[in-house]
Amino acid sequence: MTDTSGGDVRLTGISKTYGSFTAVHPLELTVPQGSFFALLGASGCGKTTTLRMIAGLEDPTTGTVFLGDKDVTDLPPYKRPVNTVFQSYALFPHLNVTENIAFGLRRRGIKSVKKQVDDMLELVQLGDFAHRKPHQLSGGQQQRVAVARALINHPQVLLLDEPLGALDLKLRRQMQLELKRIQTEVGITFIHVTHDQEEAMTMADTVAVMNGGRVEQLGAPADLYENPNTTFVANFLGTSNLIEAEVLEAGSDITVTASGAKLHLPAGRCSTSTPTRSGGKLLVGVRPEKISLAHADDAAKIPEGRNRITGRIADSSFIGVSTQYVIDSPVCPELEVYAQNIERDARLVPGAEVVLHWNPEHTFGLDAAQS
Ligand code: ATP
Repeated sequence: MTDTSGGDVRLTGISKTYGSFTAVHPLELTVPQGSFFALLGASGCGKTTTLRMIAGLEDPTTGTVFLGDKDVTDLPPYKRPVNTVFQSYALFPHLNVTENIAFGLRRRGIKSVKKQVDDMLELVQLGDFAHRKPHQLSGGQQQRVAVARALINHPQVLLLDEPLGALDLKLRRQMQLELKRIQTEVGITFIHVTHDQEEAMTMADTVAVMNGGRVEQLGAPADLYENPNTTFVANFLGTSNLIEAEVLEAGSDITVTASGAKLHLPAGRCSTSTPTRSGGKLLVGVRPEKISLAHADDAAKIPEGRNRITGRIADSSFIGVSTQYVIDSPVCPELEVYAQNIERDARLVPGAEVVLHWNPEHTFGLDAAQS
């Protein structure tokens, strides 16, 4: 139903300055055709500006926007095979769902729209709501009308600018899965702007993490989470438990020391700029859910070969699927541990002496000078 032949979206040297302020530094970015791509970053990092340059709503200061082999930099928005869904939905309040969805086709003078509108209603699962006006719909339903209205124009690329920002958390989660399903079904490229890391990770095949007008790292969600290149990316995507350390034994595998604890980093677990020579200063991170917790009395039972540090439980809270512990340790004042699916150990209460241990493969090394 939709044109999926458009090719990749390529930005070459795209930048945007406002007076002396650079909102987007020259950017090289390829969004593969048919992918669900997220631009993720904090408010003001330049993600919306980047999206608007793809849409043609903002003129780039430098650079070129390609859709497939076609240079579209100088084309106005309505001549680009691109549609945008905004957070505000921008539905016509006096038109019902069917009329809202059909609007783009009717404006182009197309008369027989029923089949296409019915296909869209089915795609977004709003068949029973076809005659309702926008104010008679929930936020999630309005959002689906906005998506259908954009997709009926057969764009090669759908741009989504914080489309779920106005929804409450539960509906947001439902709509994340819904948008993912729709994207898989239509097969066109979706480029989604969000400041919500969980949203980007849930929906996208590829995430570009932006910071200060630059793409700081690009990759598959799990790869970014497990192999962050910078402290910004590590912290933006979740709790990192960063520990200051120094290289003790250099090599392809390295051993580091942090306040007396020796930790092992297997080959390939350090970002490219991390100093791995002996004496080099680095930050060592491990995600909270990768850490296991043992009472100090059981330290001898911990298998060989695991990274381990000692500490004392400062706080614990039961959060349903897991128990979240905050640990004070000589290597780091506040380490977070999410212990899941473990037999509840009555001794693991605030004040208890514990050993934190984890598979060295889950440790990552970062350049301390970058933070
Ligand atoms: P948000 O999530 O808050 O929308 P964002 O990451 O999408 O943030 P942009 O809207 O792209 O950020 O803005 C990037 C920077 O450019 C911000 O510092 C913003 O203030 C600035 N900016 C955006 N538009 C203009 C403009 N027309 N004139 C001057 N500065 C602007």
